[in-house]
Amino acid sequence: MTTVSQAQSIILNQAKLNSIEIIPLLNATGRILREDICADRPLPSFDKSTMDGIAIDAQAWAKGGRSFVIEAIIPAGVSPKPLKKPTGCVQIMTGAVLPKGCNAIIPIERVTIENGHALVQGQQVVTQGQYIRPLGSDAKKGTVLLKQGVRLDAPHIALAASVGKSKLKVSKQVKVAVISTGDEIVDINSAVKAYQTRQSNSYALNALFNQSQLAQVQMHHVKDNEAHMLKVIGKLLTSCDVLVLSGGVSMGEFDYVPKVLKKLGVKELFHKVMQKPGKPLWFGVGKKGQAVFGLPGNPVSTYVCARRYILAFLEKTLGLNPRAIVGAHLGQTIDPIKDLIQFIPVKINYHNGSIYAYPVPTSGSGDFASLVKADGFIEYDSESKTTFRPYFSWRA
Ligand code: AMP
Ligand code: MG
Repeated sequence: MTTVSQAQSIILNQAKLNSIEIIPLLNATGRILREDICADRPLPSFDKSTMDGIAIDAQAWAKGGRSFVIEAIIPAGVSPKPLKKPTGCVQIMTGAVLPKGCNAIIPIERVTIENGHALVQGQQVVTQGQYIRPLGSDAKKGTVLLKQGVRLDAPHIALAASVGKSKLKVSKQVKVAVISTGDEIVDINSAVKAYQTRQSNSYALNALFNQSQLAQVQMHHVKDNEAHMLKVIGKLLTSCDVLVLSGGVSMGEFDYVPKVLKKLGVKELFHKVMQKPGKPLWFGVGKKGQAVFGLPGNPVSTYVCARRYILAFLEKTLGLNPRAIVGAHLGQTIDPIKDLIQFIPVKINYHNGSIYAYPVPTSGSGDFASLVKADGFIEYDSESKTTFRPYFSWRA
């Protein structure tokens, strides 16, 4: 049977870099950047005051000057005239341009303004360059400020705005069809009988892919009927890049998914992984290279497999730089299960600067109600001697 790490590498091997689209900056949060962002001018683009105060020539201070004639008041956003006399000063605001002839700023708190003069307290040190961010000191023109392959968060968006990019090249989202299976599953807006189950897997998968901004999701449902499945899945194979099926991959009489996929020319790359939950996981590739995931239908298995494998696949497809694996110490011992890696829902806590994971009791892979008490899950391999276990939070 396939191991967890084999399953992961088989899946990631099928990830091909998606194409690029250009979108407005305002819509780009969470998307994967596919261009380097360079400084279009030096940063800052002028010698910039970092304080409200007076700007002087530090030489005048060194020569004993403590009273300066105020020649002008300079707000931010104007181009000032040069200092006329070395013994003069200008009143300057935070973010304003330092006038020629000035090379130090004395904060306003240390200055008394009287009759057009600035009187400076004597007991302080004034050094050339103080409270000034020189032109180009953050970055020279043309410097790469941000490399492609990042997920765009608020600081990246701010940076793109600061170099005047109103549009950005990002990866196109992957077209994902989520296809739930099962005669017992009913739509959440319909009346539900005691022996039926409300649809939840499709909503979980849709939420996972949407929150990570990696995919455009379509939701479909098929009955456990071979002909119906062949028709619907066959059609979706022509229009989507990735198919994510839930249910119908186990050994039951009505688990038609592997058989139907085979008939549609989807090549099986593995079926069953040495893990719990989610052992029946199926993965294959369609004739046009479409990745097809068959997730076991039990809600915990569905979600854990999608979070563990499909998210990483989508991230690679979109060109996201590989993420560091986050780890957590085990807060309590876990009973090993021979030859199986366990995905265990956990609550996270911090002690003395370390991160600890505490298993949340569940009554099995159908117990989705317990998942909300957990922050995510850890990957527990009883063979591994490390105390630090890979941790996957729900928030991707
Ligand atoms: P299966 O893998 O098809 O044998 O399904 C395993 C269990 O998961 C059954 O109890 C199903 O009712 C349940 N299940 C399957 N699909 C869904 C779904 N879309 N939403 C909620 N539960 C489901
Ligand atoms: Mg089923």
